[in-house]
Amino acid sequence: MSEAVAGAATVAERFTQLYGTEPEGVWAAPGRVNLIGEHTDYNDGFVMPFALPHTTVAAVARRTDGRLRLHSGDVDGGVVELRVDELAPESDRAWTAYPAGVVWALREAGHPVTGADVHLTSTVPSGAGLSSSAALEVVVALALNDLYELGLKGWQLARLCQRAENVYVGAPTGIMDQTASACCTEGHALFLDTRDLSQRQIPFDLAAEGMRLLVVDTRVKHAHSDGEYGKRREGCEKGAALLGVDALRDVPYDGLDAALDRLGDEEEVRRLVRHVVTENERVERVVALLQAGETRAIGPVLTEGHASLRDDFRISCPELDLVVDTANASGALGARMTGGGFGGSAIVLVEEADEEAISKAVVDAFAAAGFTAPRVFAAVPSPGAHRLS
Ligand code: ADP
Ligand code: MG
Repeated sequence: MSEAVAGAATVAERFTQLYGTEPEGVWAAPGRVNLIGEHTDYNDGFVMPFALPHTTVAAVARRTDGRLRLHSGDVDGGVVELRVDELAPESDRAWTAYPAGVVWALREAGHPVTGADVHLTSTVPSGAGLSSSAALEVVVALALNDLYELGLKGWQLARLCQRAENVYVGAPTGIMDQTASACCTEGHALFLDTRDLSQRQIPFDLAAEGMRLLVVDTRVKHAHSDGEYGKRREGCEKGAALLGVDALRDVPYDGLDAALDRLGDEEEVRRLVRHVVTENERVERVVALLQAGETRAIGPVLTEGHASLRDDFRISCPELDLVVDTANASGALGARMTGGGFGGSAIVLVEEADEEAISKAVVDAFAAAGFTAPRVFAAVPSPGAHRLS
């Protein structure tokens, strides 16, 4: 991935080189980081992501002949050509499944998308738990929504993109990533209720308060992560069934002990339930603290969330734990893993004055442990998907 955000003009120029015509427009959709609310989205719970300044930028033009031509500046290989009426779920194992899946989902929902030429490039680190997949889906969905004048709202595009990823790509994911990419706004975190998709934009301007949020991409992705995600999901569904609720969201925080008693010796399920119920409470606590202007006080809540993911949900890994432990021992306000787990990224809340020392402590700790050097950057809450030109 190129580090600089690709300008709309550059992406449009490349489109013209590839396809011999000018694009009808250029769109951008961001990656995201989740502040708090992990593995709650498939339990109908709360999440709180914000958009990264890193985006996927796509130049797009309509076609009327049923052809879908796709090109990524970040992947070796040329233009891939497909036919919109031949798109079939799980038929494609390559990157093109994400944009093709969006076209498939739009057409399946009855929207008259008759083809497109697409060229895209991204600054969202891929496979780092920062949702490059959602950025890719949402940028294509937004472009087609505009060009074909479909009139779909951000949350509707997010639903279609989730369907593309679940059914067409074949990856079981919740609704958070796509909604974050489509609906986040600059300077805010998005408090999202994944049951009804109701949203609140919560002001989250750390720079104004002298703080920074560091993202530490561990650059590892442990191979078994997809299977483990599926197991956690099934375990949560089992917990809901045993407790007689539609989803774990329906277990109230003050009813947690009673629920755990009812689960008896289902130790594995008890742990999953405890994480989800306490995590939903942590999201609500973070929202309340931010709204009360007590931003620094969210630090310990993040660290609590990490402990829950490590000990109860058991999806952390040595690299993520090392980030959190080192950062906290070096004076961070709080830290946690973010995203699906087993690698990917962690977030660290720091005083601006401590940013360099804490980053260095983490990098040094990775070197001392013999881990690959992590990528560390400060994340500013940035705009959601939008048209560039
Ligand atoms: P994450 O969403 O955390 O980055 P995923 O495994 O869900 O990780 O999605 C990464 C996949 O998305 C890549 O393997 C690739 O198939 C696709 N992808 C993301 N960004 C791009 C891009 N710029 N060009 C082509 N494919 C991309
Ligand atoms: Mg993804």
